[in-house]
Amino acid sequence: MLPTLPVLLDEATVRARVNDLARQIRRDAGDGTPVHFVCVLKGAFVFLADLIRACEGPSSCDFLGVASYGDGTSSSGQVRLTKDLDHPLNGRYVVLVEDIVDTGLTLSYLLEILAARQPAVLRTACLLSKPARREVEVTVDYVGFEIEDRFVVGYGLDHAEAWRNLPYIGVMQEQG
Ligand code: 5GP
Repeated sequence: MLPTLPVLLDEATVRARVNDLARQIRRDAGDGTPVHFVCVLKGAFVFLADLIRACEGPSSCDFLGVASYGDGTSSSGQVRLTKDLDHPLNGRYVVLVEDIVDTGLTLSYLLEILAARQPAVLRTACLLSKPARREVEVTVDYVGFEIEDRFVVGYGLDHAEAWRNLPYIGVMQEQG
């Protein structure tokens, strides 16, 4: 059995919000538009799985691998592409799916790379955002929850590869 962590966002709260975001994405894209979700591995895979199932109508997905953190809980500021997309983005309605926007460095780096591939539309969806930590300005079209500066795990988010299978968002450690 998994040890329990202090709960920041419980399972039902996360599910309801992800369903809201999926409805907004579909409404903005229009009924018949295929939405191409680009999931940033590994942290966003659980979010993507729920988001794509709640987004009715045509859709597809692809995966990008990015390394921006070591096994610790603080940012190295370094962003590295570890896996590229399998499919081109030209002319597609793309929604980039991230787990959490912290400094914003990862998202701004990825947006630059993806914009150069000429999607028709490029939107961003993030489950969590820590506005207090932002170092670069970056637009996030769909934000699940704004949270304080805490290191969180669960629902796909890890600490040293553990905790991804928690069904809720828990707080790993108090900052201070
Ligand atoms: P940024 O480039 O915005 O500083 O960092 C984004 C990435 O850092 C996220 O995709 C995630 O992998 C990691 N990250 C930032 N904050 C947290 C956190 O509170 N918990 C976990 N597990 N990862 C985080």
